[in-house]
Amino acid sequence: MDEEQLDRMRRGMDEEQLDRMRRGMDEEQLDSIMRLPKVELHLHHEGAAPPGFIRGLAKEKSVNLSGVFKADGSYAFRDFVHFLSVYEAATSVLKTPGDYARLTKAVLEESAANDVIYSETFLSPDFCGGGDVGAWREYLHAIREAAIETERDTGIILRGIVTCIRHFGPDQAKATALCAAETAGDWIVGFGIAGDESRGKPRDFAYSFDLAREAGLRLTAHAGEWSGAGSVREALDDLKVERIGHGVHAINDLALVDRLVENQITLEICPGSNVALNVYPNLAAHPIEKLRQRGVKVTVSTDDPPFFHTTMRDEYLNLARSFGWDETVFAEINDNAARAAFCDEDTRSRVLKRLERP
Ligand SMILES: [Zn+2]
Repeated sequence: MDEEQLDRMRRGMDEEQLDRMRRGMDEEQLDSIMRLPKVELHLHHEGAAPPGFIRGLAKEKSVNLSGVFKADGSYAFRDFVHFLSVYEAATSVLKTPGDYARLTKAVLEESAANDVIYSETFLSPDFCGGGDVGAWREYLHAIREAAIETERDTGIILRGIVTCIRHFGPDQAKATALCAAETAGDWIVGFGIAGDESRGKPRDFAYSFDLAREAGLRLTAHAGEWSGAGSVREALDDLKVERIGHGVHAINDLALVDRLVENQITLEICPGSNVALNVYPNLAAHPIEKLRQRGVKVTVSTDDPPFFHTTMRDEYLNLARSFGWDETVFAEINDNAARAAFCDEDTRSRVLKRLERP
């Protein structure tokens, strides 16, 4: 039976049959799915900081981080807005280029341990030098050196996406875009926007996105995570992005879904993050499989993994369990991610080669 027939058969199954099939996926199969080579496109550099690393740094610098950690040592937060403030408190211990070099190594070692072979990370000059181009260059140099060293040790390839923070406002975003434009090249390959989606409109940031585009950077924006499908349309229309961070609420507007398919817009979907922050009550209710079935190019990432108690291996395991995704589906997901990566073509070929199955 070929894959298409198998897929058709799956879609025709009722819930009980589907469940039986999922349970039929044995431990060995799940284990090999977990260990597949992976491409991750949506990762916030500071948000990926292992809690132990941040605690260690806070101790070294005698910074009081009370309220940032729970008794079990994990990050503490109540909801998305509180998460943003805990995130910024945790980030406050990262004060020098040297700190970011150590952070980069800690983050990449964790990703490599999850079999990630290529990763794109969101970097904010706001946190790295306060938006000053000269200071940003020093941070970037340190981050890049650490990434090269870790690639030598583990094989993981990293590229950076400069990201402005929506709730810091459009003026700050212009300074960030300038930092991005000044350092655009074979390592800083993209520009994006993250932060509180309820603040401002995408068009307020159009100037920054135009500046980044003119500097040769590829574009992505967080949208459709907290706001509805309309925010995805606005990001496409006003910022002219080619990828959307999250974008899951597009599912509520099928004309928009068709547009995503037609224009080959890739969604950087972070299922574990969406469940942890209660965008969806559980993975079974998450639209990733519906979007995939309709032909949208979906990819899988962790967003801020230790905050959401997830890893890339966990994401794969949970998706296999919830939706019966097998190695063929994950191959499609990783192919989507590699083709939507903002790196140069030589790097993309290397990544695609490493994704090839024997
Ligand atoms: Zn994100």
